[in-house]
Amino acid sequence: MTTLTVLGSAGGAPTRTNPASGYLVESGGAAFWVDAGTGTFMELARHTDPGTLSGVVLSHIHVDHCTDVFGLYGYLAFGPSGIVPVPVFAPTGAAEHLSAFARAGEEHVFHTVLDLVDVEPGSHVAIGDVSIRFGRAVHPVPALVTRFDTPHGSLVYSGDTGPGSDLVELASGADVLLCEATIAGERSAQTYPYHLTAGEAGRIAAEADVASLIVTHLASGVDADQALDEAATRFRGPINLAAPGSTFTIGGTT
Ligand SMILES: [Zn+2]
Ligand SMILES: [Zn+2]
Repeated sequence: MTTLTVLGSAGGAPTRTNPASGYLVESGGAAFWVDAGTGTFMELARHTDPGTLSGVVLSHIHVDHCTDVFGLYGYLAFGPSGIVPVPVFAPTGAAEHLSAFARAGEEHVFHTVLDLVDVEPGSHVAIGDVSIRFGRAVHPVPALVTRFDTPHGSLVYSGDTGPGSDLVELASGADVLLCEATIAGERSAQTYPYHLTAGEAGRIAAEADVASLIVTHLASGVDADQALDEAATRFRGPINLAAPGSTFTIGGTT
């Protein structure tokens, strides 16, 4: 079985009841932490031992998607698991940026426990029986859209992106599209170009012909029911909200 658990989904900033962006993808014995937004390390640890992660994927290095990776660093370097190396896949440049914050030179334990891998759009990796493919997101910093294919199903995550990303192509025929829907209402000339409206998330789901859509990363003040309604104007399949703590089964259950 492959599952997606929402550790946090608040757009831009954590709230008292919802951490920033972070997800746990589990398939067979593999576990991936996908985005490490503020507050998500503690949620991750409630669901799985962080010392047993198969990998971490960071869509980009905006703080609401990456800061808790330093919690994992501390856990793996100084915590009960003993020193455990974990691959961290992130856009090119992220390794340098994160290392600088940790003041970690080449020989630092930061690099022993976090094996930071630069990822270019179009590349892919395989870990166990999980294949991960990356595409280009449209955002002010290098950012990735990510597809997980497992023996049970397929999940595609938008990260943060505006219109024009590789999302439609990467999500083609996927079981689940987990897509940001930061903005409410229709896009106008003044609308921020580096996030999606809920309607655009629905349109991408329809164009990619995915089986179901989960909307996430709603900006503070955006009404969830309105976002679901706006997504449903473009996509006729099932649409869910990425409520914190919720778990979704991806594809079949065997
Ligand atoms: Zn964000
Ligand atoms: Zn961002």
